[in-house]
Amino acid sequence: MTSFDKILAKPAFSRQDIVRLLKAENEEKTALFSKANAIRHKYVGNKVFLRGLIEFSNICTKNCYYCGIRHDNPLVNRYNLSDKEIIAAAGFAFENRFGSIVLQSGENNSTGFVNRIDLLLKKLQKLSGGNLRITLSLGEQTRQTYRRWLESGAHRYLLRIESSNPELYKKLHPPDENHRFEKRMEALNDLKETGYQTGTGVMIGLPFQTTDDLAGDLIFMKDFNIDMVGMGPYIEHMNTPLYEYRHLVSGREERFQLTLKMTAILRIMMKEINIASTTALQAIDTNGREKALEAGANVIMPNITPGHYRDDYLLYEDKPCTNDIAEDYTGSLEARIALTGNTIAYNDRGDSKHFIKRKQAFFRE
Ligand code: SAH
Ligand code: SF4
Repeated sequence: MTSFDKILAKPAFSRQDIVRLLKAENEEKTALFSKANAIRHKYVGNKVFLRGLIEFSNICTKNCYYCGIRHDNPLVNRYNLSDKEIIAAAGFAFENRFGSIVLQSGENNSTGFVNRIDLLLKKLQKLSGGNLRITLSLGEQTRQTYRRWLESGAHRYLLRIESSNPELYKKLHPPDENHRFEKRMEALNDLKETGYQTGTGVMIGLPFQTTDDLAGDLIFMKDFNIDMVGMGPYIEHMNTPLYEYRHLVSGREERFQLTLKMTAILRIMMKEINIASTTALQAIDTNGREKALEAGANVIMPNITPGHYRDDYLLYEDKPCTNDIAEDYTGSLEARIALTGNTIAYNDRGDSKHFIKRKQAFFRE
């Protein structure tokens, strides 16, 4: 047994172990992915859950240094879908037996926005007779807002920590009250305590980020006991401050591979969580999402934002745009997933098994 195989066989990984696993190449990488795939099949089966992603507005009050739709980028054509358009997209997901949707937008904390989402959630619940699980990805909000939205029909919330290293987090955000690491941590804690299936995630391959930082990110997810995760490669955007540091970033293929390794290691560490195969993977490799399914992921988020708005939700360059719409709907997604040895779980809300058990344990106490 090689030293790599010995680490892979351990019941728990130390930070150093994770750093070593992240350096896997060739047959080591194959062994890592196949172990993760076997664990995924054993613990969460061969089902792939679908979440219809609705990017309903690119209007954002924040200024994260990496993001293409940050407030201060004047070159963005800002849009905001009407309730009718959002409901139509959700209806499409429901009719196509998706089981769940994700509502995502730039961050907005105004009373008008909070009330709008509240009403929208109620309408969406009515539309589906309560049979559509709704994930929100609307950034940092107050505890009261999180509670209100939960009571109005949201079930899950995705708020990436972006990087669990506070020093790195600082380098990625402006030094003001709106972009504090502690505030983000507080929001994550609020979400969990409010009762959401809580998801987080990080960007992989950021400037200034080390392998040790990434190992720390996985340990953070385990310690925080998250229910679901969406992590993807960092992809530069030319109209952002972080673009200045693009020379510090590894090649896209390397970031892609690193993301697959992060996915695989996390699956081994957290066997029953939901792991999304994210859109940014597809931006680098057209088969990216399928490759992540073979490395431990079990969720796919087809973009169901009405086509003409998609080109304006450019968080990063080369994001799959309008043209990809047909591809996901023509049944080719089904065929592509079948090639990975998995099947789509239609009409399945796709709750995180980890969350269900966490909740049961809570009520037993
Ligand atoms: N405003 C919300 C949701 C939209 S942004 C929020 O920030 O939570 C969703 C995610 O897009 C962010 O969490 C970030 O991880 C990712 N993102 C932004 N810019 C990116 C980039 N340049 N490369 C890769 N992912 C990026
Ligand atoms: Fe806004 Fe989210 Fe982009 Fe930050 S990452 S600028 S909060 S959309």
